[in-house]
Order: sequence, then structure tokens, then C-alpha cells
Amino acid sequence: MSSEPYLFCPKCGTSLPEPDGGGVTCTCGRRWYRNPAPTAGCVITRDGKALITQRGSDPEKGRYDIPGGFIEIGETPVEAIKRELMEELNVEVEVTDDDYLQAVPHRYGDDGTWTLAIGFKARLVLGELKAADDVAAFRWVSNDELDDLDFAWEHDRELVRKVLADG
Ligand SMILES: [Zn+2]
Repeated sequence: MSSEPYLFCPKCGTSLPEPDGGGVTCTCGRRWYRNPAPTAGCVITRDGKALITQRGSDPEKGRYDIPGGFIEIGETPVEAIKRELMEELNVEVEVTDDDYLQAVPHRYGDDGTWTLAIGFKARLVLGELKAADDVAAFRWVSNDELDDLDFAWEHDRELVRKVLADG
């Protein structure tokens, strides 16, 4: 991922100096930017409860988060959510840009990769929930359970709280 500075120019192989803030320019003229890797996730509610997922893989295996994942090349956040929800939970969801709620920069995994977690609310449309891919399990939780759950990232807990509070 490009959130870590390159040590060598990916174009010509020259050793690169430390980046200044936004990036580094190689002697070959190519400039390499340093950016966070965006993720997109969503909160789905039903009868006053929110759907959360238990991570089946590292980092943070076994801890809770919300369904979603890394945005792939060429995807919008909304497209990424729809794809991830089908892969992870076997369901079709309805979500639009109007459902956007927050974007939180944070560090991910052992090497502290910088990511930008973009959060939405969404609605189930079709399919029966079934944990798959890197999701070990799912559960519906109410607002008063949130404090006791082992969330991998606090911004997910806060997003669930916000969506449940808004009804
Ligand atoms: Zn170069």
C-alpha cells in the first residue's frame, strides 16, 4: 500500500530520500505521493439493533467491527460497500452517497498502515445473512450493549452508536 513511504523509486529503482509531508520526488522526475488507503463500511439497523461483524482474520482477529472493507481501484465507497456486503454476508444492501456519516483517519495492522475509514448507514434489501470471507460471525446489538463489546476500532463503536441514536 502507498501509505508507507517508498524506499526505492518504483519506476527507476533509485534510492529515495525521506518524503516531505505529501511525498517525494525522484531524480528521474517522478513524484510519489503518500496517501491513506480508503475503506468503506456501513451500519445496518433493524428493530432498534445494529448489525456488527466479528473479524475472522488478522489484524484484530476475533474483535468486532462493521461490515465493509478496503475500496478497490476504480470503486466508489458505495460500490465497495455493496460488493463487500455480498462477499462477507451474502446480502444486497441499499446505500447512497446521502447515507455518508463520517470519515476517520486511523492506523491499521502491525505496520500501522494509514487508512481512512469512510462510514455510511445502509439498508438490507435481499438475501439471508451468512458469514463468509473474512467475517467469522455477525450479531445484532442494542445501544446498551455497545460499551461492553470488544470493538477493533473506536470509530466503529461511535458510528454504530450514532446510527442507533438517530433511529
Ligand atoms: Zn525514479
